[in-house]
Amino acid sequence: MQVVSLIVSLYIMSPHILIIYTGGTIGMKQDPQSGALVPFNFWQITEEVPELKRFDYQLDALSFTPLVDSSDIRPDFWIQLAQTIKQHYDTYDGFVVLMGTDTMAYTASALSFMLEDLEKPVVFTGSQLPIGMLRTDGKENFISAVEMAAAKGPDGRPQVPEVCIFFENQLFRGNRTTKYSAEQFNAFRSPNFPPLAEAGIRIKYNNGFIRYPETWGKPLKIHTSLCCDLAIIKLFPGIQEKTVKGILAIPGLRAVILETYGSGNAPTLPWLIQALKNAIEGGILVCNVSQCHAGSVAMETYATGILLKHAGVLGGHDITTESAVAKIILLTGQYNDNKIINEKFDTNIRGEISI
Ligand code: ASP
Repeated sequence: MQVVSLIVSLYIMSPHILIIYTGGTIGMKQDPQSGALVPFNFWQITEEVPELKRFDYQLDALSFTPLVDSSDIRPDFWIQLAQTIKQHYDTYDGFVVLMGTDTMAYTASALSFMLEDLEKPVVFTGSQLPIGMLRTDGKENFISAVEMAAAKGPDGRPQVPEVCIFFENQLFRGNRTTKYSAEQFNAFRSPNFPPLAEAGIRIKYNNGFIRYPETWGKPLKIHTSLCCDLAIIKLFPGIQEKTVKGILAIPGLRAVILETYGSGNAPTLPWLIQALKNAIEGGILVCNVSQCHAGSVAMETYATGILLKHAGVLGGHDITTESAVAKIILLTGQYNDNKIINEKFDTNIRGEISI
């Protein structure tokens, strides 16, 4: 009797992890006819990683249908993912999302904004080489992601209750990441924020940088009203008036991300500043995000930035383009009042900016 109750309590104590497989290189194999990489059934993935059985965790898996290359992911996929996590939230201690790397930084950013009062880890990972290949990076990424999703701190609470990306040997805050390399196993960078954990011989958690809830025990809320009436204008020397004005004249446009130079600078061309000013006065949000991966937008540093500020352009601080896209899609989906959106865009909501 005693033994049984001990077994039961150990069983209850062991972390319960849900693996959500959505597609991507990690689960692909070569199509014998075309030679192209195409997704295969998830159950083959678990066969490829028998090491997972050595964890004393309860692992469950579910697979999206159809499986997708992440280049095909659209915001309705984000909604499906957020709803899946919400549906299973109370049953599991952590979630591992396997997906393609190409749009992983966008998806992790979006999920970070969609999941409010998240108290459990949601760890995204994938791979550069399919998991069935000899030199695959997928196995280690997968195994470490599961371990991090299951990790508890000394107080028994989840070690990293955030939306994260684990790749190669680092765990990053999802909304701080960008896909940096199409070639290296070390594919992601978080240029403006330190890793939340590093996997070496041991996994070292950087507790000082992890966001923990101020009070635990709040129910998870999900935000699924999204609006994609957004455009990105990337400045380059020689950008033409007709291009900028053409974009700003798109019917229904709610927001523009202006990818500027350096610390948020743009050419002093009068037509450009006037076009932005007119757009802003006409109700379009214009957000300044630097083309530089590291550092921050500071429009007051140079005359070329001050003009933008005076035109009403919003500073994006050190946000990544991926995170800015996700944040604007969420904010314009949730609010009609530009004053509220301006305020929220300028606020650190999920650790996406350093202020
Ligand atoms: N094209 C693939 C995808 O994003 C690449 C990858 O998985 O890394 O789904």
